Amino acid sequence: MSTTIEHINCLIIGSGPAGYTAAIYAARADLKPVLYTGMTPGGQLTETTEVDNFPGYPKGITGPELMEDLKNQAERFGTQVRIGTVTKADLTASPKRLWVDESIEITADAVIISTGASAKWLGLENESRLRMNAGGVSACAVCDGFFYRGQEVAIVGAGDTAAEEATYLAKLCKKVYMIVRRDEMRASKAMQHRVKNTANIEILYNSETQDILGKEVVEGIIVKNNATKEERTIAVTGFFVAIGHKPNTDIFKGQITMDELGYITVVPGSTKTNIAGVFAVGDCADKTYRQAVTAAGSGCMGALDAERWLAENGTH
Ligand code: NDP
Repeated sequence: MSTTIEHINCLIIGSGPAGYTAAIYAARADLKPVLYTGMTPGGQLTETTEVDNFPGYPKGITGPELMEDLKNQAERFGTQVRIGTVTKADLTASPKRLWVDESIEITADAVIISTGASAKWLGLENESRLRMNAGGVSACAVCDGFFYRGQEVAIVGAGDTAAEEATYLAKLCKKVYMIVRRDEMRASKAMQHRVKNTANIEILYNSETQDILGKEVVEGIIVKNNATKEERTIAVTGFFVAIGHKPNTDIFKGQITMDELGYITVVPGSTKTNIAGVFAVGDCADKTYRQAVTAAGSGCMGALDAERWLAENGTH
């Protein structure tokens, strides 16, 4: 049985850079925002090590520290940050109805969705171990490629992201092995062309990663050719996985307009969704840029859109 505990003026769902930035702006505009963190407070950045590309940190900052700073900044202006996951929503109701952790029911006037996206992983034991220990396994070449300057790395995947990240890595690294599970790539012809014409990218078709070697840090990978069944060990110090992301939008399916991958569709140049008073910001609505700073920027837009909507609809 659920309990209605309160009505919230501006509800923010998710605690990545988009959610916290929305909270900073919403709180400063006196929207009295309440932010539910979701299952990973701080979002994807809490799983990375150094963040060197967020403006304002000339010496870099760790992902967890950056997220703590953003949280503190949001709280400084009065945002209520609560640990909890919104598990169900009826956004077509007026006011909107939502449930936290299956049990607490809340209602809200404006809702800013900043639930992010999660990188897909291969599911290998050593992949998660080395990823958790910051040992050289990453799902973001733009974030972490810099640490492998002049070294040999591998990237798994054959879509546009993998192709884009392989060419990005090739500019920094001595050599990039691109591990493609089929005999062709899924990436657009233009991206394939770029990859194939980059001298220091070696594409291994029909290839699957069997294991990642190294105790503390990545030292190599075992790759199996699924046509010939041959296995080989390749010495690399970085292992990048680019096999797609999944936007965390399942609970809104059937209510909010999304693309076929589940990314929320917004009115171009805004954060407005198909439901009045519901706004989408950050990676849950962005499959192209997926950077902390672009997420933060769209979080700001979401709060400004929510503020205007609340003002026009007489609820603020
Ligand atoms: P995609 O879903 O397009 O591609 C995922 C790739 O990973 C596929 O090649 C797939 O192989 C491979 N893969 C999936 N699971 C495994 C696995 N377990 N082992 C090995 N390989 C695996 O994801 P992207 O992130 O590349 O792109 C998402 C969307 O974003 C696409 O629509 C893309 O076009 C778009 N995008 C556009 C960009 C741009 O326009 N600049 C840049 C980046 C993304 P298989 O092909 O065999 O299924």
